[in-house]
Amino acid sequence: MPRSGAPTRKPRATKKRQPKAPLTPEERALRRRAGRIARGLAAEYPAADCALNHDSVFQLLIATILSAQCTDRRVNQVTPALFARYPAAADLADADPDDIERMIHSTGFFRNKTRSIIGASQRIRDDFGGEVPDTMKELLTLPGVARKTANVILGTWFGKNEGVVVDTHVFRISHRLGLAPKATPVRTERRLMALLPRKEWTLFSHRVILHGRAVCSARKPRCRECSLETMCPRIGVDPGSGASRKPASRRRARRTN
Ligand code: SF4
Repeated sequence: MPRSGAPTRKPRATKKRQPKAPLTPEERALRRRAGRIARGLAAEYPAADCALNHDSVFQLLIATILSAQCTDRRVNQVTPALFARYPAAADLADADPDDIERMIHSTGFFRNKTRSIIGASQRIRDDFGGEVPDTMKELLTLPGVARKTANVILGTWFGKNEGVVVDTHVFRISHRLGLAPKATPVRTERRLMALLPRKEWTLFSHRVILHGRAVCSARKPRCRECSLETMCPRIGVDPGSGASRKPASRRRARRTN
């Protein structure tokens, strides 16, 4: 009972948590298969890491923006000269756009990328004290930064698993493996986040990217040499691409030879 005269406090409304719907047998089976795939990739690519060369989080950010629609190898050819001339956000923020366009021309979409990296540098200098922010919300305010880039920065540099990096390899291979529908990168990311333990999100992306480069390429996946072959329904893979499995009898014969 409240003392007489003492202000009575209105009881705080408590939000009722909706109980999670139980997983269907199909969803449970899919999670188990996703786990096996993740373990297979971990065994094959134990030292997977971001392939973009960088010495600081600022350099990683700029390299990741430049990697849109471009190979990491090409970006790595361009960034040494760029970072030598513009090592920090304050330097790049005041850069002459013509100079940047010349330096990054070979990465494609160079005008947009120039606007993005100068704009991001200005915002980092003016609004974040020269430091690349470490939250998804703040990163998404930087020009040229969407979820994919923010996930790379958070996962690779800050060790925060906020999401799964869905680049062209992760998007393609997740669909082929039957882990996610071929819809949008955002839906693919949501599916992968639901299927995999959070601590694995960043490394899983790095490993799938390596697998995409080494084995499961866009044009000609090498299914016969793929360690995931027995777990992969190969959705959308053209049997005429040279990726078709050998008949089981021939595969057995090859393994016992
Ligand atoms: S089996 Fe083929 S389609 Fe499936 S992950 Fe391996 S290479 Fe890609």
